[in-house]
Amino acid sequence: MSDRTTTAQVAVIGGGPAGIEAACALSNNGIRVSLFESEPVLAHNVGNKFKLFPDFSSASELVATLSHKLSGSHVSVHLDTEIVSMEQKGGLWFLTDNYGHTHEAVAVLLATGYDVFDARRKEELGYGIYKGVVTSIDLESMLKAGKLVNVLGEQPQCVTFLQCVGSRDEKIGNHYCSKVCCVTAVKQAIEVKKLSPRTDVFLFYMDLRMWGQGFEELYREAQEQYGIRFVRGRISEAASTFDDRVQIKAEDTLVGQPLKMSTDLLVLMVGMEASCGTKKLASCCGVEGAYGFAHSCSPYLSDNMTDRQGLFLAGSCKRPMSVSDTVNDARSAAVGIADYLKTALSN
Ligand SMILES: Cc1cc2nc3c(=O)[nH]c(=O)nc-3n(C[C@H](O)[C@H](O)[C@H](O)COP(=O)(O)OP(=O)(O)OC[C@H]3O[C@@H](n4cnc5c(N)ncnc54)[C@H](O)[C@@H]3O)c2cc1C
Ligand code: SF4
Repeated sequence: MSDRTTTAQVAVIGGGPAGIEAACALSNNGIRVSLFESEPVLAHNVGNKFKLFPDFSSASELVATLSHKLSGSHVSVHLDTEIVSMEQKGGLWFLTDNYGHTHEAVAVLLATGYDVFDARRKEELGYGIYKGVVTSIDLESMLKAGKLVNVLGEQPQCVTFLQCVGSRDEKIGNHYCSKVCCVTAVKQAIEVKKLSPRTDVFLFYMDLRMWGQGFEELYREAQEQYGIRFVRGRISEAASTFDDRVQIKAEDTLVGQPLKMSTDLLVLMVGMEASCGTKKLASCCGVEGAYGFAHSCSPYLSDNMTDRQGLFLAGSCKRPMSVSDTVNDARSAAVGIADYLKTALSN
């Protein structure tokens, strides 16, 4: 184990949109910043998508823009470097990484984001058991490759989406709404129709939360232009048919009728959970909130601050958030950190 150390005014933990945006904003203001990302690449939680809501812009282009911005800044970037613990001593933060190195900073920004819900935990839906059951992340890979096929390698006759997998779920213990999966399902359903116009597309929902600008219009377009069928109801169980399709048992809660149908692909809209990094570091610093997300001082006027001096938060480590909300939140965190440094460094 080496004892190599680095020093910076600000340590940013997490190289997603939140971490990159905040790091660049701070660096542009002459502040020395180190950014740590546990993965070998930046912004993998965006890079694994094809097109983004609300306007179908390219996820890879967004990642390229963020990476370009970061490489043009003076931020010292450490990829493949997971921060495993941190502590504050005498007004300074000491971070330890997975190699045993120590990194010193006056302020720390936690931008450790989310992990998607592991669909295997909903055993009754058959993910990991039946090949025709996939997650929204798996579907993004298919869309990215421009290849939408069923288990037999043929164009699917039917694709069915199920909302709220791992969110708003008493049994799992995640009562919160993941916020981005309703609009993601509508976006993906349209993409399926664009790629394979003859495929029938169904979408099972509890209620549709189209909260953002342009989302409601996308929902209308899905119905009117693409003929996507929205069914208010829950799928209780999935099973395999003899010809490798997926049979689903559901209830149409609008008409109060149970129904059975078979589909080529069942797409589970997996929700957002606090990432392992968020849970570990928030708990290590005593700022762990509900469901393992990091807890800010107040959601009104100090949503980027924590009860710990010099420890700030940005993005989806606090709760599910879209990219645009994340980026705005990161800019606001950068302003708060710059203000904090003025006082901390003048003492
Ligand atoms: C299925 C799905 C589809 C989505 N589609 C869209 C969309 O179309 N449009 C949209 O606006 N939003 C979309 N989102 C939301 C989008 O992914 C988030 O808004 C965005 O990724 C949040 O950025 P972030 O930086 O807060 O977190 P993240 O992107 O999760 O980044 C956090 C980073 O921190 C790193 N990290 C974690 N712990 C550590 C540690 N201990 N040390 C070092 N690094 C660490 C992680 O590896 C990760 O790279 C979607 C989300 C899901 C689940
Ligand atoms: S955004 Fe929609 S699919 Fe996701 S948890 Fe909320 S209601 Fe369910």
